[in-house]
Amino acid sequence: MTGALKSPKSLKDFFEYDFPETPYPTFIPLGFAKKIKEAGPESSLWKQFLPSELENSNDGLEDPIADEKYLVAGQLIHRYHNRALFLPTSKCPIVCRYCFRKNELYEQNRIFDVQFDKVLQYLHANEQINEIIFTGGDPLMLSDEKLKTYLDSFSNVASIKYIRIHTRFPVILPERIDEKFVELMSNYSQRFSQINVAIHVNHKDEITEEFKESVARLKSIPKLDMLSQSVLLKDINDCPNSLASLMTQLSELGIRPYYLHHPDSVKGATHFQLSLEEGSDIYLKLRRILPGWQLPHYVVEQAEGKGKIPATNFRA
Ligand SMILES: *Cc1c(COP(=O)(O)O)cnc(C)c1O
Ligand code: SF4
Repeated sequence: MTGALKSPKSLKDFFEYDFPETPYPTFIPLGFAKKIKEAGPESSLWKQFLPSELENSNDGLEDPIADEKYLVAGQLIHRYHNRALFLPTSKCPIVCRYCFRKNELYEQNRIFDVQFDKVLQYLHANEQINEIIFTGGDPLMLSDEKLKTYLDSFSNVASIKYIRIHTRFPVILPERIDEKFVELMSNYSQRFSQINVAIHVNHKDEITEEFKESVARLKSIPKLDMLSQSVLLKDINDCPNSLASLMTQLSELGIRPYYLHHPDSVKGATHFQLSLEEGSDIYLKLRRILPGWQLPHYVVEQAEGKGKIPATNFRA
């Protein structure tokens, strides 16, 4: 990928700002960096993607959702009976400061070995799995050719009916969703019952003209539905009105609000955390503003990798 900021010097020069030292890498494509700079240091964009002194805290966990426990065939996380996560890459188009994998990212494939033959063997042996969820990292980091190879293989497994792709690209690098990609996905949408693209978007400031255009291109793909997922983040989107505006705008663009994730306790990102009580209060207010069909599921990961449950269950 050309044109990205990553060295401390390039960040300082571009943003004309003195950032603190932290142990975590920074990576921001130039086009999106311009948007962050325009928005300024108090904005939701700046706080989500630029280094902060607060990252130096030692609170929180290194692997909060215990992925490794459910890792099979080197590249699948099989936690739910009929669906499995597929992890073809650990790279992303940007580094989010709140990332739940922030202590693993860019340590190349520390936990995920590439053993694609084993993945296919596992799927053939486990015909109850009918959905493959591409995640990572961000699966759209892969070239179209590589995506094609994987989609070809999965379309030859008779039990796989659904494909889901979790991505932040429409926000960060919307030009990735180009005509070639649309053509590729249009070919494959005939070979599965349904393809879902789950777009990671946290704040209405992320809905730019370029975002809308990439969403319109996705929408032109037959049998493809768009979902959203957002992380509830302190001082970013912890406001019912702001969240309601995000969900309304997403739904007007044809994206169904799907998940609002309660933040995990991640080392280096605990300044984004809220308590479940605070989160539930925000969600119940959001519930009053939005009709049910624009309301995302508010979920939290249970300890020891046991999976997501409704976060309001924790409410006393
Ligand atoms: C969230 C998640 C899924 C997808 O679950 P849905 O309920 O289908 O959204 C699948 N596998 C793992 C490991 C997950 O964490
Ligand atoms: S896109 Fe997701 S996996 Fe990648 S850095 Fe952001 S939160 Fe982490």
